[in-house]
Amino acid sequence: MSWLDELARPEILALKPYEHARWDTQLQRLHANELPWRALADHSAAGLNRYPEPQPGRLIERLAALYQVPPECVLLGRGSDEVMDLLVRAFCRAYCDSVLVCPPTFGMYAVCAHIQGAGVVEVPLRAQQHFSLDIEAVLAHCTPEVKLLFLCSPNNPTGNLLDTEAVLQLSERLAGRALVVVDEAYIEFSGSPGLSRYLAKTPQLAVMRTLSKAYALAGARCGALLAAPELVLLLRKLIAPYAITQPTLEVVLDALTPAQLTVAAQRLQSIARERSRLQQALARVPGIRRAWRSDANFVLAECVDAQDTLRRAQAAGLLIRDVRSYPGLDGCVRVTVGDSDQNTRLLEALQ
Ligand SMILES: *Cc1c(COP(=O)(O)O)cnc(C)c1O
Repeated sequence: MSWLDELARPEILALKPYEHARWDTQLQRLHANELPWRALADHSAAGLNRYPEPQPGRLIERLAALYQVPPECVLLGRGSDEVMDLLVRAFCRAYCDSVLVCPPTFGMYAVCAHIQGAGVVEVPLRAQQHFSLDIEAVLAHCTPEVKLLFLCSPNNPTGNLLDTEAVLQLSERLAGRALVVVDEAYIEFSGSPGLSRYLAKTPQLAVMRTLSKAYALAGARCGALLAAPELVLLLRKLIAPYAITQPTLEVVLDALTPAQLTVAAQRLQSIARERSRLQQALARVPGIRRAWRSDANFVLAECVDAQDTLRRAQAAGLLIRDVRSYPGLDGCVRVTVGDSDQNTRLLEALQ
């Protein structure tokens, strides 16, 4: 038996998946009840009258190369949001199993758990040690009901990378007991290569990546799970058969050509420059008590009067995020690093 047989929901392991229409570009399609003509509004390359390729091979290969993992370790989804949902559905039986999260962190992990009827175990990050992982506390809360851990690195909304050694140690000590999922939505902004290179050695570790942030494609809805091939195969049974739309496929393939990747890399550098300017300037604003250093494309700041900070930003035509409801983030706001003009405008509004 594989480690997965012990952890995943038995009914998902036993599930016979939907058989989608056969994919064979050599043959003409009279097997999927599509129309033979394009819509007049259809400007796609392939034609939207046809269902797209399920888990499109070319995109999987491109992302496998980008993230430096074998193609069989890549599952494509409509953003990491969908991947999270699939993981919770595959591992957590309603009213029995739980996910573990480390607040203050991204809210979607708990939402996915609640939708599935799974419990949520919370083990706070160590706020006094720059929001680092408390490994012993996490392990102490990993009862047999905890099937999944969601860690976020760099963490949203605190902005810090989690320590690689700590995450690896946690995954090793939880082998056979739970799957450790690391959400690397912001990893490109950190300069760290991330954890995907440890997947081969550590099957109980999985990594979520997305094109929404560093690749400027939030509107295209495309993300990936990088994981052991047996887990990718299991989740393929659950995912909607045509999850990645043809327009998304075409725009993402285009965005991953060498010329476009060069531009993306230059943009990461400007965000990093603006991030340090914004963080240092925010820290000097009288109404700001503290602005944390960040490995992502946003800065967490603690305000003297958060309501006043939010109001000033809005009066300048800018939305920033109120994160006061996150545990331990009293008086805090999260500011996305914008372009140079936007950042200057925000700083002026707060002076
Ligand atoms: C923005 C963000 C994502 C990206 O989600 P997509 O569904 O891929 O757009 C994932 N995780 C975190 C923590 C985020 O902040």
